[in-house]
Amino acid sequence: MLQVKESFKEILVIEDTTFFTKVIHSRLKQIVDIHVACVDSMAAAMTHLENKNADDVLCLSDMNLPDAPNGEAINKLTEFGFPTIVFTGNYSAAMRDKILKLGIIDYVTKESPATLDYLASVVNRVIRNRSITAMVIDDSKTSRKYLSSILERFQLNVITAKDGEDALNKLSDQPDIKLIVTDYNMPNMDGFELIKEIRKEWSKEKLAIIGLSASDQPGLSAKFIKIGADDFINKNFEIEELMCRIQKNLDNLDQLDTLHRSATTDYLTGLYNRRYFYDMGENIVAAGKNRGSPAVFAMIDIDKFKNVNDTYGHDAGDLVLVEFAKIIKEKVGITDLPARLGGEEFCILFAAADPAYISDFFNQLLNNICTTNFNIGDQTINISASIGIVLVGGALEDAIAASDELLYQAKENGRNRAIIDVGSTTPLSTIKGPPGFHY
Ligand code: GH3
Ligand code: MG
Ligand code: MG
Repeated sequence: MLQVKESFKEILVIEDTTFFTKVIHSRLKQIVDIHVACVDSMAAAMTHLENKNADDVLCLSDMNLPDAPNGEAINKLTEFGFPTIVFTGNYSAAMRDKILKLGIIDYVTKESPATLDYLASVVNRVIRNRSITAMVIDDSKTSRKYLSSILERFQLNVITAKDGEDALNKLSDQPDIKLIVTDYNMPNMDGFELIKEIRKEWSKEKLAIIGLSASDQPGLSAKFIKIGADDFINKNFEIEELMCRIQKNLDNLDQLDTLHRSATTDYLTGLYNRRYFYDMGENIVAAGKNRGSPAVFAMIDIDKFKNVNDTYGHDAGDLVLVEFAKIIKEKVGITDLPARLGGEEFCILFAAADPAYISDFFNQLLNNICTTNFNIGDQTINISASIGIVLVGGALEDAIAASDELLYQAKENGRNRAIIDVGSTTPLSTIKGPPGFHY
């Protein structure tokens, strides 16, 4: 496994116009959670960076500084290996050529407010790229090296493969690869065959593929895309164009991920929502039946939650729900499926669990709930919950109805307890939460 790069520890803005520095600084603070330092000359930048590791600092530097009028600062930064984004006030084709030759990540022209949006999107991308792995596939060693150097400059972690078979092996060793740049003409398996194989397992939501070819064969780019690539670029590309395509494709993956997340999680607590729970729950229940060890379902409802809202207000109620969800998240294992079914009603589906584990789990959960101090402004409150737990012998729907029945009994019997039904031969058992005042 490739060791991924560490996050940046600092962003250094090197700019002599106070106004521009202020605007950039406040924009960066909005989008990233990294320390931002600002200096106004090359000399100050060099002093600031003296004992710093080049991998730790992302530099955003003006092309023209009082003590470096012709891009000398950029030369120094790239020479020392600092990843650098440049801004410049006077854009020209000659200037662009000159800047790009310096081995920087990108340049931004100080033209309009849209410039700032672009700068923000590049910074965001570069920071996120450090946790992303990409694969370059090409039978030419020179080409692999060249492409890798561009992707690494963009702060991606890069793996290379020399042909389709090598690529498929490496992809199954490292299935979290997010971007592939692949050549078309390769021995054994060409780019098309390779993409067809990859798409059997890796969807467009998980992995972006950019096809590359030196050939001018008509229809090649269209075929690449029809077969499952997201983009195509001719091998005579300009670095800037490749960077733009990579950025666009990775941003696209991020957006798909955000959409997926908002469709599957509850906006308030971040737990899975009801819809996702039902979709995934059916699979877990079916897998349990196949194994002969049924799933276990628990319905959890906060006691007298209406009182919290009535006494402290709805916003305070929301805070309690968020903290309550955290208690559940911290307690569940990776194979368990927790969700917020609605209101103050939560649930957990256990893929499989023996009775001793279940009673231990809920004993601790009831304790954790009762002993947590929920902070509302300068006040703290304590709450309890009631729980109904059943084996999922048949349909998930039936188990939910049965657990609801037990939950009702738990409320009737005094709240702050879990009632467990683990099968027809064993009597119902009750676990009580710790005594004390609870809402
Ligand atoms: P019981 O012990 O019988 O469960 O009593 P309860 O008060 O918890 O139950 P009830 O079902 O009467 O009230 C649930 C309350 O949960 C009423 C509703 O306003 C509140 N609620 C539901 N969803 C939310 C939410 O998203 N935020 C907040 N703050 N309150 C919510
Ligand atoms: Mg309730
Ligand atoms: Mg309720």
